[in-house]
Amino acid sequence: MKRRIFRSSLLITMLVLLCCLGILIGFVYDYYDDVQVRQLKDELGIAAAGMEQDGLKFLKDVRSERFRLTWIRADGTVIYDTIADENTMANHAEREEVISAFATGSGSAKRYSDTLTERTLYEAIRLNDGTVLRISMRQATVTALLRYMLLPIVLVIALCVVLSLILSKKMSRRITEPLDRLNLEAPLENEAYPEIEPLLQRLNVLHLQIDAQMQKLKQKTAQFEQSIGNMSEGLLLLDQDGQILTVNPAALRIFRADADCVGKNILAIDRDGLFRNAINETFLNGHCQMQFEREGKNYHIGFDRITDDEQPAGAVILAIDMTQQKLAEYSRREFSANVSHELKTPLQSIIGSAELLKDGFVKQEDIPTFLERIHKEASRLVVLIEDIIRLSQLDEKQPIPTQTVALDSLAQEVVSILRESAEKKKIRLTIHTEPTEMIGVPRLLSELLTNLCDNAIKYTNAGGSVEVEIKNKAIIVRDNGIGIAPEHHMRIFERFYRVDKSHSRRSGGTGLGLSIVKHAAEYHNASVTLESALGQGTSITVQF
Ligand code: ADP
Repeated sequence: MKRRIFRSSLLITMLVLLCCLGILIGFVYDYYDDVQVRQLKDELGIAAAGMEQDGLKFLKDVRSERFRLTWIRADGTVIYDTIADENTMANHAEREEVISAFATGSGSAKRYSDTLTERTLYEAIRLNDGTVLRISMRQATVTALLRYMLLPIVLVIALCVVLSLILSKKMSRRITEPLDRLNLEAPLENEAYPEIEPLLQRLNVLHLQIDAQMQKLKQKTAQFEQSIGNMSEGLLLLDQDGQILTVNPAALRIFRADADCVGKNILAIDRDGLFRNAINETFLNGHCQMQFEREGKNYHIGFDRITDDEQPAGAVILAIDMTQQKLAEYSRREFSANVSHELKTPLQSIIGSAELLKDGFVKQEDIPTFLERIHKEASRLVVLIEDIIRLSQLDEKQPIPTQTVALDSLAQEVVSILRESAEKKKIRLTIHTEPTEMIGVPRLLSELLTNLCDNAIKYTNAGGSVEVEIKNKAIIVRDNGIGIAPEHHMRIFERFYRVDKSHSRRSGGTGLGLSIVKHAAEYHNASVTLESALGQGTSITVQF
């Protein structure tokens, strides 16, 4: 801006200067011309008077370098010339001033020399004898005048340039200083020129709009960061060159990266080069997915291209932990295999016994034993199927109506039902309760209690004891039976897991009892703890 002000003021100065010089020279030259013509006329008048009186003698006495006098006859021939030899001079009859003088009594003319640097002023007058006397004088032209004045003009121009340099510098500084001092952060607080007041007001409006937008942007960024921060899935945003723009804590954890990976290429955190092909394919085809395993966990990684105006603008990478799903899938598959196996065994036994009976291979006295076996296996099947149905109902996690349950009475009922089988095994079954009411599902709580007590009786030898206790909103079932070795503690709640398969089968176990206990407890938000030592007994507590 300073330079522009300086340039324009210099240009204006030069233009004004040149115009002034032109006009001045024009006026001066005109005035000078007028003066010379008048002087020439005066001189001619004097010369004409001299000629009328002294004739040729007057002319011969003239000794002037400035003026030249020429006496011309009516036919145009030169009678006498004060400077040149009249015999060598051409006929003057066609000269403008001479024609006019012969015709009207006087004539004037101005003619340029060949070089254009000089011109000659002519004045002519007709004398009484019919001849014409002409006076002429050389005069410098404007060009010559300019040439003559070149030095002063150059000096004046130089002076003007220097002056305008100094002045325009000062002026531009004075104009721009208040603009330099403008506080654009608070446009309305400035006291600069009134002319820029509307601009400052507009700037202020823009400022307010930008502030509001920035605020919104900050809020949105915070919301975005908060949401991706709380995601359990790993999220990475890349630009079109594969540089990381955003990464959430879950992704940092999954890919074992530091927060300073932002701004670096994705390959910097992909040490094994697993993503290279996937990313290339994503940018090419728009989508790619892969499985990724780290520290015993399985991840599904989805790559999706982000486009802006149909041009690739980047990619989003989402890593989902599939470990639980994989485990669930695995246990589902294992469960199905176990169910088929568990169903097959009693069915084979039933079919085998029935075939032997049908073909008459069984002795008459053994028939009741065979029928007893068929009945026992069929009953086992029914129990097994009931347990499977119960478990699958619990798996579906569908809400079951709850009600107030008197846990102590429920435990008393269960114990009274199992008392007979305990007595059969010569096991002392005791119960201690305190009045306990809770909100729950009576059927599930009854199954939970039955399974715990039934196991305690099943896995306690004759002469042992089983103790059921209801206190502080907890069910405790204790026995002094065979106990469970520590290596099985974690697994006995798994479906179909048994420490001793044949013992379990002999005693009518399905391997699903404790799974049902675990699910029923989970349904009531209760924890299950097991204390057991091999040969010493087992205690299971369900704390509601
Ligand atoms: P099961 O139908 O075989 O009893 P459960 O799921 O009820 O199946 O129990 C799983 C396994 O845990 C049993 O097979 C048994 O080995 C062990 N178990 C359960 N309760 C006891 C207990 N009170 N004492 C010793 N072992 C037990």
